[in-house]
Amino acid sequence: MALTSLLRHERRALAMKLVDRELRTSPIHSLTGLPEPEIRSLFKMKHDRSPPSGPMPSSSSFFTSRRNQAEVTLFGALYRHLGGQRIHRQLSAETLMKAHDLYREIHPEDSSRKGLNFTDAWVIARDLKSGATRFVPCRHCGLDYLIADETDIPPNCPFCFFRRLRKQKDGQRAPREVQA
Ligand SMILES: [Zn+2]
Repeated sequence: MALTSLLRHERRALAMKLVDRELRTSPIHSLTGLPEPEIRSLFKMKHDRSPPSGPMPSSSSFFTSRRNQAEVTLFGALYRHLGGQRIHRQLSAETLMKAHDLYREIHPEDSSRKGLNFTDAWVIARDLKSGATRFVPCRHCGLDYLIADETDIPPNCPFCFFRRLRKQKDGQRAPREVQA
C-alpha cells in the first residue's frame, strides 16, 4: 500500500470515529485534513441527517453559571490529566476522545442534565490551546479551576462558591460572598 493511501486510510478511520461522536464538520476537517464535503457525506451516511452547521461556539459561552463553570472545569481537569502540558501546544484527537469518554463515565447523559457533548469538549480543548480558556489556582481551596474572557460570571472559584452556598444553607455561618 502506498504511503499516501495508508495516510488517507488512517485519516478516514479517524474521521469516522469523530463522526460517530457527532463532532462538527470544521473541527473534523482541522483534525484529519479530510475535505469537508467528504466529512459531510460520512456524517450523513452514519446519522441519516446532515451535520449541524453555523458558527462554532467559544468556551466563554459555557461559563453562564457556577454549575456550568464547574462542569467545564471537570472536563478540563480530565483532559489535562490525560494530556499533560502538551494540551497547551497541540490538540490530540486521541486524548480528546479518551477525556470525553472518562467524562461521560462519571457524568452519564440523562434527561435532566445533558452535560458537555463532544463538540463542546473540542471547543474547550481548542481554547485551552490558544489560552482563551485558562486554569487558575484557587488561593482558598487550592484547586485549579477554569476561567475564560468575557464571561457572564466573575472569574472566581466555582468550588468555593458551592461550599459557601452549602454553608449558608446549613446555617453554619453566613458566607462572606455569594455570587450569581
Ligand atoms: Zn476554591
